[in-house]
Amino acid sequence: MNEIAERVNEIREKIHRAAQRVGRRSDDITWVAVSKSVIIEKVVQAMEAGVSEFGESYVQELLAKKNDSAFDGKTMKWHFVGRLQMNKVKFVVPNVVEAVSKSAVHFGKVSDGLLQINVSHEVTKAGFQYSDVQEVLKRIIDLPNVNIRGLMCIASNDPMKAKTEFKQMQKLFDKLSKSYNSFDCLSMGMTNDFEDAILCGSTMVRIGSALFGERVK
Ligand SMILES: *Cc1c(COP(=O)(O)O)cnc(C)c1O
Repeated sequence: MNEIAERVNEIREKIHRAAQRVGRRSDDITWVAVSKSVIIEKVVQAMEAGVSEFGESYVQELLAKKNDSAFDGKTMKWHFVGRLQMNKVKFVVPNVVEAVSKSAVHFGKVSDGLLQINVSHEVTKAGFQYSDVQEVLKRIIDLPNVNIRGLMCIASNDPMKAKTEFKQMQKLFDKLSKSYNSFDCLSMGMTNDFEDAILCGSTMVRIGSALFGERVK
């Protein structure tokens, strides 16, 4: 077994154990393997080890990997997890939701999306403040061909702070799920904090470096 395959098994086991601790099924937790800056050979190894959902932060890279012949005939899902500029709207799901909607209508597709919450309130991090969420949702929830599936966040580096943030996210998600029936995804948890995120109800973890190793800049 190659190193990537071993790590896939380790991560799956950790997801499974964290889920069990709170009486959840690991099947209910989607693992998006974040493959930004990772060479295609390693992504292929992860796919061969059973990973089927990948996340990319850059449009060009996402398209290049998604269209690579290594994945011909494979059922895989590619998530865009980065920030997008307006002029690239027509290629993948942007955070400029109105533009996505228009583009999705034009291409006859439906774009799923998550609303990012700035849980750490750091200005360098993206996402909406808690106080703005309701208003933003009202504006975008009925746009055609866009399906807002829930919330996502990048938590603070400090594990104690991250735990508090996950709990706040869980509360917000539970509340909003009552009003918005398209809500079925709470995406939180990365390499350093995915187990805590699962304990707090995360339904989608986004794990990169634990699988592929540290990223080189
Ligand atoms: C890079 C990235 C991840 C993965 O981070 P790791 O710490 O390597 O697991 C998850 N989510 C987003 C939005 C990212 O940009």
